[in-house]
Amino acid sequence: MADLTSLTIAELSAGFDKKEFSSTDVVNAYIKNIEQGRKYNAYITETCEHALAQAKDCDNRIAAGKRLSMLDGVPLGIKDLFCTKDIRTTAASKILENFVPPYESTVTKNLLDAGSIFIGKTNLDEFAMGGANLTSYFGQTINPIKRADGKEVVTGGSSGGSAAAVAASMCAGATGTDTGGSIRQPAAFCGIVGIKPTYGRCSRYGIIAYASSLDQAGPMTKTVEDAAIMLEKMAGFDELDSTSANIAVPNFTASLKSGIKGLKVGVPKEFLNGDLNKEIADAYNESMEILKSNGAEVKEISLPNMKYALATYYIIAPAEASSNLARYDGLRFGLRVEGASLDEMYENSRSAGFGAEVKRRIMIGTYVLSAGYYDAYYLKALNVRKLIRQDYINAFNEVDTILTPVAPTTAFTIEESKSFDPVTNYLQDVFTVPINLAKLPAISVPIKRAENALPIGMQLIGKDFDEETLFKGAYVLEQNNSWSRK
Ligand code: GLN
Repeated sequence: MADLTSLTIAELSAGFDKKEFSSTDVVNAYIKNIEQGRKYNAYITETCEHALAQAKDCDNRIAAGKRLSMLDGVPLGIKDLFCTKDIRTTAASKILENFVPPYESTVTKNLLDAGSIFIGKTNLDEFAMGGANLTSYFGQTINPIKRADGKEVVTGGSSGGSAAAVAASMCAGATGTDTGGSIRQPAAFCGIVGIKPTYGRCSRYGIIAYASSLDQAGPMTKTVEDAAIMLEKMAGFDELDSTSANIAVPNFTASLKSGIKGLKVGVPKEFLNGDLNKEIADAYNESMEILKSNGAEVKEISLPNMKYALATYYIIAPAEASSNLARYDGLRFGLRVEGASLDEMYENSRSAGFGAEVKRRIMIGTYVLSAGYYDAYYLKALNVRKLIRQDYINAFNEVDTILTPVAPTTAFTIEESKSFDPVTNYLQDVFTVPINLAKLPAISVPIKRAENALPIGMQLIGKDFDEETLFKGAYVLEQNNSWSRK
């Protein structure tokens, strides 16, 4: 029998249908990989026992020919930001180290209803604030792909544990969340596929909030097809999230392989004339060529306000975070450190419970929202956000999708990342945050290996709720690039 953990979700599903193996076989194979892969620190909590119990139910359904969906029997990693009923959910923070939610997030509930199995909760930056998995209270995640010189590199973040778990075959697919790039950048750094859907496509109910107007859940998988399979089940309207969109979820897998003849792909002139790193620029050009040779038309467009996106994001995201994180007061749930007065108890609990980066964001956020600075920073940022979205809307009058790199470099080493100051870290997000500000969908696909052996990813950005076009385009990129051929 082939190594079961090398199969895609689509292949696992076909194998279950043909009764070639059981879900228990598959879970056991993944448990072995999880044991061997502990050095990557991809999981905060392993739920192998629980997964085996779930697999039994799946096997009964498989035997009866009554599988619930293509995900039935498939082991998934769940970012430890999704509340899972009766399973510890930490947000990689000390303040939630012992938090066991009494309820299930809507996305994970949808995945459970589809029959999927949860094999563990994956590591992340604390409260999803970060881009290298440096800020997790549970320690750094390591990228399973090594640099050519043998050095270990970061997974990217914040969904670094999910990316590492998929890349090292420690689950068949994983959930991520993306506030400013947290699905797409770790996917690019670890050589896998990740899609941030349109804001509102997936319910945010039960996902521990970072910045509510930007947060969105999405799948992280080995292939584009697997991402389509997962998103179809994760997405959908939810009464419990007033920002979830009441729009039907298309059958993403049905149109996936229909080709891109006549597709108009925009490339922002700000990138063509900018100072992209040479290898990233090469991968960018190669991607354009692949799309062209498959019938797409590549057109230059302009996104003039993109240069303000990073500054805008690092006002809006911390502002919302400071408000969302006010609930961790030591009283209702999470860590409590007693003090002589109520105020002292708040102060002690929050001082002990939050890490340095989270505290920095709370302080920035509180500052930009405070009287006197609100207009100068927060309100101005909201206005610039509108301009940034308008840039994309203008571009989409001329093109169907936009192609850009995901990150300015390949993954950096763990040593390098430790010497970065916060602003250097924030600069990593320069190509991903504008899309969250504009609320649009974007998919990240690995394209090729850089000379240092690390993967380079490109992203396709779509119109509101047009994930279908992204899957089609990404599928063509995947089928024709040197990363996948390898
Ligand atoms: N790196 C970005 C940040 O730290 C994005 C994180 C995310 O998307 N959750 O805010």
